[in-house]
Amino acid sequence: MRKGLISEVVDFFSVGNRYSYDFQRAFAKFCKKDILYDKNFNNNLPDDQLKIFIDWFLFEYKLKMNNQRPIRFFYLTNYLSFSDEDRKNYKNLLRSKYSFWKICKIDFDKGMELEDMFGQKHIYVKEVLGTHGTAVGDIINNRISKIDDHYELLGNNDWVWAKEDYDHPVLCELLKYKKADPKLTRDLMTQFFRTSKLMEKGGSEKIQQQIINKDECICSLCHKQGVIGALKFDPLTDEPHLYCKKCASKFVNYNN
Ligand SMILES: [Zn+2]
Repeated sequence: MRKGLISEVVDFFSVGNRYSYDFQRAFAKFCKKDILYDKNFNNNLPDDQLKIFIDWFLFEYKLKMNNQRPIRFFYLTNYLSFSDEDRKNYKNLLRSKYSFWKICKIDFDKGMELEDMFGQKHIYVKEVLGTHGTAVGDIINNRISKIDDHYELLGNNDWVWAKEDYDHPVLCELLKYKKADPKLTRDLMTQFFRTSKLMEKGGSEKIQQQIINKDECICSLCHKQGVIGALKFDPLTDEPHLYCKKCASKFVNYNN
């Protein structure tokens, strides 16, 4: 696949006024900002976040005007001007898949055999760097695309869960969904890091007092005993609070 292919698609949506509304809208959504606040799209996301944004925008976001994924819309509207080579490249990208992959086999400096955690399909990817510092059994999240005659990781996301992290709360939560989503993964990982940081400040003792069994608590809102539904931090004091599932359903969206 030739260099600059993806950035051409990004430019198509971000430069000029024709489609920039959607790009700004997606950016605001990704950064959880008001679209008016961020009207003059300024690219202040760190590089790793920007990569996730681009992946999510091109492959998962739906354009407001026609409900299509940006990469598909770009392909359909520019199809006639493509060279044969590019037509093949874009077709491959359209069929690419973002998922969680379990590493089944590693051939150093050559590639890896991966198993899709959503669907159990196996795929062999050509890879050099990633064959070092990972182990069989590790779970990675990434987009895989066919490139020329083989498959490759597109390197848009790089969290790794080792075997001993299989019970990681974020991984367990993400695997409950029907498919993987780069933005959701980013959102939950960020939330997890923020929570861990706040808990380090001394929140765990307070939480221990609220927990009854392993999965029940005395709810901070209704003060009754119930299954744990959510953990929230007081925005002023950073003090943690546990809520029962019934109370938590008022502010948590259980959409899986
Ligand atoms: Zn309650």
